[in-house]
Amino acid sequence: MTDKTDNPTTTNAGIRVESDEYSLTVGRDGPILLQDHYLLEKMAQFNRERVPERVVHAKGGGAFGEFEVTADVSDYTCAAVFQPGCKTEVLARFSTVAGELGSPDTWRDPRGFALKFYTTEGNYDMVGNNTPIFFVRDPIKFQDFISSQKRRADTHLRDHDMQWDFWTLSPESAHQVTWLMGDRGLPKSWRHMNGYSSHTYMWINGEGKRFWVKYHFKTDQGIEFYTQQDGDKMASIDTDIHIRDLYEHIADGDYPSWSLQVQIMPYEDARDYRFNPFDLTKVWPHGDYPLMDVGKLTLNRNPDNYHTDIELAAFEPSNLVPGIGPSPDKMLLGRLFSYPDTHRYRIGPNYMDLPVNRPKNAARHSYSKDGPMRYQNPGDPVYAPNSYGGPSAQTPDFIAAWDVDGDMARAAASLHAEDDDFGQAGTLVRDVLDDAARQRLVDNIAGHLLNGVSEKVLQRAFDYWRQVDPGLGDRVERAVRDGQTG
Ligand code: NDP
Repeated sequence: MTDKTDNPTTTNAGIRVESDEYSLTVGRDGPILLQDHYLLEKMAQFNRERVPERVVHAKGGGAFGEFEVTADVSDYTCAAVFQPGCKTEVLARFSTVAGELGSPDTWRDPRGFALKFYTTEGNYDMVGNNTPIFFVRDPIKFQDFISSQKRRADTHLRDHDMQWDFWTLSPESAHQVTWLMGDRGLPKSWRHMNGYSSHTYMWINGEGKRFWVKYHFKTDQGIEFYTQQDGDKMASIDTDIHIRDLYEHIADGDYPSWSLQVQIMPYEDARDYRFNPFDLTKVWPHGDYPLMDVGKLTLNRNPDNYHTDIELAAFEPSNLVPGIGPSPDKMLLGRLFSYPDTHRYRIGPNYMDLPVNRPKNAARHSYSKDGPMRYQNPGDPVYAPNSYGGPSAQTPDFIAAWDVDGDMARAAASLHAEDDDFGQAGTLVRDVLDDAARQRLVDNIAGHLLNGVSEKVLQRAFDYWRQVDPGLGDRVERAVRDGQTG
């Protein structure tokens, strides 16, 4: 038993407190005194324990680990983190998207796959998902998309009619909804899913040569999934099964790993490629741009403290290191702003000062200063340019930039030869899924549609699936009609 005198409870100011059990009162029966500072401190602190949950990706967990480069991709990027043999400490956070903080891990949803590489050139973040594509391709639709997946204004309930209303009025969602309703929309655990950058990024090599790149983190544990029935069952048995699974495997020394492969597209190919390579609703078929090995991500250390290591972790696709840049993907360009902005709201303007978010392996020489909770400030000079030895920026020989032309427009990105909303979804249904997976897809879609979707939206949904694949649409309609009468 701990000797209480060696380990006394103190206030936040380090002053010994008089009791863990009794408030200060007038007489044994009260009233309680305002001068019981420790009681007031406890109540006030407790009332402020929560930071706002993330507006998306609220429910999640994560771990630390290492990324090791095992191949040579230095012809394509000069980023230190991807040079042969380089090992870099990494933080990974996995999550669902639409559910709130306490929601079940086994709801059907895409999963976040966010990585922070503590590189020698500053922190590099890849804010990916377990899917290579997304529901919309323009950031102006993102907020409406998420609102349609969250809760109604009147009942405060999630509502499948609202979800399908949005999806069927946004045909660019078809590829991702097909993927979501398939087996991979309900992974068995975070260890059993892949991670994708989803976005296209730019890589630049040491000679300034530019490439477009997509990242694929392939699970070394193999893909495993829950059927809808098993996922529903698990949601009531263990709401936190994915957090538990990751934590326990790492605690047992059974470290999960992912092999990173990339698709590389020469800069000049983008203009005439058969698909718009910056459209987030499309993949680059492997046959066009084969996967190349890069390295291995291994998670081997659980967080010491969930709040400080995971809840306060701030990932942002704007954290790009030299040798890596953005691309004309409009969703990515929108996220470059929205992620740091949401962190400023959620955990404060100095979120980068928190230990989990600070660069660990690169020096920070920023002129940003002051503000709430700032506890380390740069000294003088507080401005640039200056003649007193303060940091000064040096424009590198190569910056991540691409050719642009044209007048300002509010319009869809230029269509490439084979661009449409349904083609790649149809390929997934016909050429990738086997009969059993196709049947599960029909069952999952029909089950979802049978949950409060109005007739007018149902009609649009049948048409949506017929455009993905005529046979699939027929089967979905039959299953829904059978379900309505059965
Ligand atoms: P490939 O036959 O080369 O690739 C098909 C890929 O589909 C597989 O490599 C696997 O991706 C993925 N896959 C397998 N089962 C499922 C499933 N149940 N749900 C979702 N994805 C699954 O063909 P293409 O590259 O020409 O792509 C054909 C279709 O495959 C695309 O239209 C797209 O829907 C899907 N796909 C393509 C990816 C790509 O980057 N090219 C990535 C993922 C899916 P993985 O190897 O990553 O596990």
